[in-house]
Amino acid sequence: MSFTIDLHSHSNISDGLLTPTELVEHAAMHRVDILALTDHDDTSGLAVAEVEAKRWNIQLVKGVEISVTWKKRTIHIVGLKIDPEYPPLKAGLAKIREGRHVRAAGMAAGLDKIGITGSLEGAYEYAKEGIISRTHFARFLVNSGIVKDNKSVFKKYLVKGKPGYFEHEWASLEDAVSWIVGSGGTAVIAHPGRYDLGRTNMLLLLEEFRALGGTAIEVVTGSHTVAQYVEYAKYAQLFGLKASLGSDYHGKGISFMEMGRLPALPSNCQPVWHDWPEVHAAQAKHLVS
Ligand code: AMP
Ligand code: MN
Ligand code: MN
Ligand code: MN
Repeated sequence: MSFTIDLHSHSNISDGLLTPTELVEHAAMHRVDILALTDHDDTSGLAVAEVEAKRWNIQLVKGVEISVTWKKRTIHIVGLKIDPEYPPLKAGLAKIREGRHVRAAGMAAGLDKIGITGSLEGAYEYAKEGIISRTHFARFLVNSGIVKDNKSVFKKYLVKGKPGYFEHEWASLEDAVSWIVGSGGTAVIAHPGRYDLGRTNMLLLLEEFRALGGTAIEVVTGSHTVAQYVEYAKYAQLFGLKASLGSDYHGKGISFMEMGRLPALPSNCQPVWHDWPEVHAAQAKHLVS
């Protein structure tokens, strides 16, 4: 691959640490040529990211990562090359963000019960630019000295069965895919290896996703092991799905992976970007430089 592509990243519009402008600059410093900003349930960073990308000669792919409930599990669906102004997508994301406020209150109530007070206000202090998420609660709990680090805070407080976990119903898979595809974008299952579904449910998910109009899955991501690159390349091939690649960068210290470091897709994959004009532009840039 003669160019560097990263199709999954977060700014502080969701739970990343950098502003959209800083994120694009960070991508430029790591020699990324094509970058998708895919904030959770919020597209309001895309306009400013696009302006900054032009300055650095980066091709910005407009993206989003939508929270979905499928068979009582949370699944993330990335949309690439979306139109953030498409009314059903805009309205759908606005509704998810509203739900996040209700959920945050529920999480805080759970923490109150075990004597951890002030977490709602505390979490919102870190969520001034966009959505409220578990990551913001994690930051509050770590920075106020209640838990030692980001990893243990999820394990002890913020996952199913723990005091700060609040059961929540996100968008349906059908809605998320239809908002993305309806807006002209490509729907991608984010980090499939993280859901612990088992083979039977993974096959069901891929079947249903494809029937709804989904066309790609992440194969190489900061969340997958090398063995999972191979495993999900096989699933992609089996279902005729394209393959995506992205770091899921959130910022120093909390990212799964630095930008620009991932290996190329396995050779049996068809890249999700195979017919994108952005890629030809990025390749041309490398030919002349
Ligand atoms: P939410 O969408 O509010 O449930 O927050 C989910 C976000 O929390 C994910 O996108 C990750 O950035 C982060 N996250 C989830 N699980 C963990 C974990 N075990 N350790 C660190 N961060 C996590
Ligand atoms: Mn996140
Ligand atoms: Mn995710
Ligand atoms: Mn992500």
